[in-house]
Amino acid sequence: MTKYETVIGLEIHAELQTASKMFCGCSADYASAPAANTNICPVCTALPGAMPVINARAVEQAVLVGMALNCTINPHNTFARKNYFYPDLPKGYQISQYELPIASEGWMDVPADLGEGTQRIRIRRAHLEEDTAKTFHRGDHALIDYNRAGVPLLEIVTEPDFRTVEAALAYATNVRAILRYLGVNSGDMEKGVLRFEANVSVRPIGSDELRTRTEIKNLNSFRALTRASAYEVERQIKLYESGGEVVQETLGWDEARGVTVSQRSKEHAHDYRYFPEPDLPPLQLAESFIESFRAHLPELPEAKTQRFLRDYGLKLQDAALLASERSLADYFEAVTAQTKDSAKVVCNWLTGEFMRQINDRALSVDSIPIPAAHLAQLIDLAFDKTVSGNTAKSVLVEMFQSGRAPKDIVEAQGLGQISNEGVLKEMVIKLIADNPKEVASYLGGKETLLQWFMGQVARATKGKADPQAVKQLLLDEFEKLRK
Ligand code: ADP
Ligand code: MG
Ligand code: ZN
Repeated sequence: MTKYETVIGLEIHAELQTASKMFCGCSADYASAPAANTNICPVCTALPGAMPVINARAVEQAVLVGMALNCTINPHNTFARKNYFYPDLPKGYQISQYELPIASEGWMDVPADLGEGTQRIRIRRAHLEEDTAKTFHRGDHALIDYNRAGVPLLEIVTEPDFRTVEAALAYATNVRAILRYLGVNSGDMEKGVLRFEANVSVRPIGSDELRTRTEIKNLNSFRALTRASAYEVERQIKLYESGGEVVQETLGWDEARGVTVSQRSKEHAHDYRYFPEPDLPPLQLAESFIESFRAHLPELPEAKTQRFLRDYGLKLQDAALLASERSLADYFEAVTAQTKDSAKVVCNWLTGEFMRQINDRALSVDSIPIPAAHLAQLIDLAFDKTVSGNTAKSVLVEMFQSGRAPKDIVEAQGLGQISNEGVLKEMVIKLIADNPKEVASYLGGKETLLQWFMGQVARATKGKADPQAVKQLLLDEFEKLRK
């Protein structure tokens, strides 16, 4: 039986977070429009004679993304008309970029198949275009809302370089993280601001031909991307194995049934009759303009991960998790700078109990309600043994609930750990005097009873005694009795 290899190329459509639309002054924040067809003007509804104007912010954001994806930024790039008829496209064409995109020939490294090392994915191009209107089907009618028409979109296209669905997922995840780092896209996939298209084919292992591919459109989540791609790989292998052929076509993903469904046979570039957009001049970017953006590029997730590994000695998985969100990474560093304890301890808090609270409360790491100084203070309280580890966790919950500082909570509720040796020693001596039978059997060799003694102190102090101190005191007293 032939063994097959997966071949995937990804197209990502990202709406840009500009104030206005790509070619007019309407708001790009169409989700905030009060009603359908209120966020529109003669340009984005294609009234005769209306003229487009290029949105400078969208150009800047495209340059930033292009740089972050290691692309060449093309100082001379042009807009083109992509002609097709569909009701959600008021002009009868989409203004896009075709022959000369704003960015081309970039790359991203993703983890290689077997976990060791990386594989370089070539990014073919990133180009500017405009989003379409939204269509709603009601019975026999199609209703159209043009609020979204003309919102800036950046389309990012890879070469067919992915050999596994996992690699495609890693790339898509990292592109989302980069877009969020750059502040050009919220990454809110439920809102449709980031959409994937997976081009999928398979071929016998060892061959380097590119076989006929299918294109799965409008994948709105990572889950849909991976499930649909994996399904398509399997479907195509079965087809070849049964002597069939793959037909080039555009597919949709039926999430509920877990299958791809044919939408139409694939159009080819010539179907779109691309030609230069006559209403827009070529976009000329001065080298000095392009270079000024390099300075604006923040440290990106990959570089941050590497720095966290180097500077803080974190584990790769933890470093990558903290670096995946700019706000979380900044928070981690702010807490680390303010606590006496180590970065590793801060990392354990953040990736453990802290994340659980954030998730349980459906909060976002973009708006962490606990000031970094408060978390640092809590970690210090545990470090100084003012509170036990378990108490610290419940104080954290209280911090999320009330927003109060950990010191105030500990004081108000009397949660401070009893580490006063004198007090503990008295308790231990009394405990030993009150339980002669247990003492005798402990001294007689039943050493597991030590746990029982510790448990008694823990109960009497409601868990506020430092277990290490109690253990030592008990051992000291027993030692005296042996003599
Ligand atoms: P078109 O211009 O017809 O849309 P492209 O060659 O530009 O086709 O490719 C579009 C996307 O499809 C790219 O992401 C590319 O990597 C991917 N692709 C092209 N050929 C294949 C193939 N045989 N298998 C998987 N993906 C492919
Ligand atoms: Mg395509
Ligand atoms: Zn408009």
